Amino acid sequence: MDSEYYYSNDVLNPFSLEQIKEYQEGRLKSQLKYCYSASSFYRRKFDEIGARPEDIKTLDDLRVLPLFMNKEQERKNATESLEKENHPFGTHLCAPVTEIYLTGTTSGTTGTPTFSYTFTKNDIERIAKGLGHRFAFNGVKKGDRVLFIFALGIYATTMSLWGIRNIGALPIDIDARAGSDLMLKFADLTKPKFMATTVSLAEYLIGKAQGIIGKDVGELNLYGLMLTGEVGVSIPEVKKRIEDAYGCPVYDYWAPAGHAIAITCKSDEYSGMHGVSPDLCTSFEDIVDPETKDPVPIEDGAIGEMVVTSLKREAAPLVKYATGDVIQVFTKPCPYCGFPGKRIKLVGRSDDMLVVKGVNIYPAAIKKVVESFTPQVTGEMRIVLDEAPPRVVPPLKLKLEYGSQMREPELDGLAKEIGQATHDQLKIRPSIEWVKPGTLEKSTRKTPVFERRYEK
Ligand SMILES: [Zn+2]
Repeated sequence: MDSEYYYSNDVLNPFSLEQIKEYQEGRLKSQLKYCYSASSFYRRKFDEIGARPEDIKTLDDLRVLPLFMNKEQERKNATESLEKENHPFGTHLCAPVTEIYLTGTTSGTTGTPTFSYTFTKNDIERIAKGLGHRFAFNGVKKGDRVLFIFALGIYATTMSLWGIRNIGALPIDIDARAGSDLMLKFADLTKPKFMATTVSLAEYLIGKAQGIIGKDVGELNLYGLMLTGEVGVSIPEVKKRIEDAYGCPVYDYWAPAGHAIAITCKSDEYSGMHGVSPDLCTSFEDIVDPETKDPVPIEDGAIGEMVVTSLKREAAPLVKYATGDVIQVFTKPCPYCGFPGKRIKLVGRSDDMLVVKGVNIYPAAIKKVVESFTPQVTGEMRIVLDEAPPRVVPPLKLKLEYGSQMREPELDGLAKEIGQATHDQLKIRPSIEWVKPGTLEKSTRKTPVFERRYEK
């Protein structure tokens, strides 16, 4: 990637990191002032803590500001705006409701859906630049076809289509719920150059292709896969397995609600997602301890829950929004491509965190250890929970599929090796229950990580 094109906003490309910070702080001041004057919710929040928007001048000031919002608060705001203003966009809506140009919800798997993807025309134009640039960063060009498969078609991901169109590429948009037959037939028929989908789905299609289109996914001749929604690509064995099957590089990308727009570069070794749009939010500058919610200083390798504050949003800007996504932040330039800005790695969801004998463990870390034993295991796994998390009475129970060439007498020894590796890397020693390959259901959406054996 040419250094002239690191960031989606051209203004930032010649800037030093210090200048980018100043640019962010300039936008922060006007964003907070705008939120305070335009939204009853934000006015109340500032008043509650006895602060005024003009008190927040720097990113450091922002970091010590208490959290304003999380998903639950967002839902409360929506209930309140439904009651008082007859719309579902929440009391943090800052633009007149008649100015909303695009809206979409999260999948609403738990509770009432929130319209977190609510934009004015200016918003979506600005965000589309970032969303498109994220793909252009890895070589998607005008005229390329991008197969775009998600089970969220009517919900959230539609905004990414704006991004793809923004660079002049053509999205071939397929709802994953249409089934693998249709997905693969479209992949074969439309000859896309790139595919954007989830890790689970990319893996799922590998096993289905020969039976449906009479060829392997590698024969689709894709140039690149952009995958999102799960931790998978950062696990070396998962990345390699998908790259080997499709015969092209696999990138990891992210942009929850159009914030934190990021993608990996072409490095063989996972080097984290590169934040290409620091002008749109402060996402990689503000993290808190997932349990105590105290600020965590931003330094190379720091881990914490991501807190979003928008920098130039009109419709529904977020201020001090705790996302529940735990990330690791890298502050040094990318060793592979030289990208100078912040890079991040997804660690897990704060509500998926387990505490085993005082050690904080995320499912992805366990998955990483398990994957390192492929092909002796298939890599499919469940964490069995007898009680509601996060506390787990040891040993942590894992259900694993053994690899197809393994013989039953070998499984005890393998369980010991995996137990030892988990202990070496994560300081816990799990108990392992073996199941035959193919027992654990693969999902076309996010594959479940927990098997819950307790009453919810
Ligand atoms: Zn890089």
